[in-house]
Amino acid sequence: MASADGIYNYSAVLMGSPIQLRLFEHNEALAGAVFRLIKRYEDLFTVNREPSEVMAINRAAGLHPVRVSPPVYQLIRCARAASLLPGSAFNLAIGPLVKRWKIGFHGDSVPPAAEIQRLLALTRPGRVILDDAASSVFLADKGMEIDLGAIAKGYIADRVRDYLRREGVSAGLINLGGNVHTLGAPGGGWSVGLKTPFAPRDALIGTLRVADKSVVTSGIYERYFERHGRRYHHILDPHSGYPLDNELQSVTVISPDSLDGDIWTTLLYGFGVEKGCAALRQRPDLEAIFVTRDNQVICSSRRQFQFTLLDDNFRVTD
Ligand code: FAD
Ligand code: MG
Ligand code: MG
Repeated sequence: MASADGIYNYSAVLMGSPIQLRLFEHNEALAGAVFRLIKRYEDLFTVNREPSEVMAINRAAGLHPVRVSPPVYQLIRCARAASLLPGSAFNLAIGPLVKRWKIGFHGDSVPPAAEIQRLLALTRPGRVILDDAASSVFLADKGMEIDLGAIAKGYIADRVRDYLRREGVSAGLINLGGNVHTLGAPGGGWSVGLKTPFAPRDALIGTLRVADKSVVTSGIYERYFERHGRRYHHILDPHSGYPLDNELQSVTVISPDSLDGDIWTTLLYGFGVEKGCAALRQRPDLEAIFVTRDNQVICSSRRQFQFTLLDDNFRVTD
């Protein structure tokens, strides 16, 4: 049924996340096709369930290269390049640590320091060997594992956007749980909420108004566990092997493509506010909203969105 504003909402659970599609027409068939498209990509990229092309690469670590389909090859190529940027906090080879910490999954625990050191040696992105001609991926050391959890939703959100455009949809929104992509500007733009960290799900710091943009948020409040009075969240520092610990609670990136947004939330998380804003000067197509632990909301710039503050416990600065 349409809501008062004429929007039809369709939902599913995929990639362990609630997925929401919003359209201005009643079109079950289109919604079904979008969810099947997402599922097809999930089956290629997941590291949680067989069969998956990424798991086939991981199983062959230290043994032999694995030929993969074009989407898997492209995404791994892009993730590897992001991992090798100077000072990058993004690391596609972080898999052994993600699997050991299990943050957000059943059986999470704090690994002993010696084990973290041992696993860190298996996370070198340069040891992901690509062969363009063969479209194959080889993990050079036994025990290495690729994890595309910080980038795959961005890639998939872009593919959904492309598909909706091809189907002639002029206004729509897809939310993959943290990755929102918008088409068109109904009523002057889509309103996307910026969540209040560690508050009930519908509590918002404010809203962004965007048109034809992706809005990706990564935060320390989405997946975490608490042990002995400490909180351990799911964005790992690839240099220490522990959750990234800095002044930030969340980073949101507004960009034309969600792939960039997903990569850059992780990069900016690692850089922090000051270095992050400096890095963004080289990328005028990307803008960020940093939410700090002392409740500042810092916008790198505001060309592609308008921001409305709703919670007066927070202060906005540019
Ligand atoms: P982001 O900040 O974008 O990414 C954080 C995630 O990236 C971490 O959870 C970890 O997987 C990885 N990561 C951590 N540190 C780094 C780093 N330094 N560099 C690079 N990557 C890092 N969840 C379930 O509960 N069940 C499922 O069955 C399930 N299946 C999934 C299948 C697919 C194809 C994908 C893409 C995700 C799936 N997920 C599932 C969710 C997944 O485990 C991550 O929690 C999710 O992708 C985190 O995305 P985010 O946007 O919240 O965070
Ligand atoms: Mg990400
Ligand atoms: Mg993400």
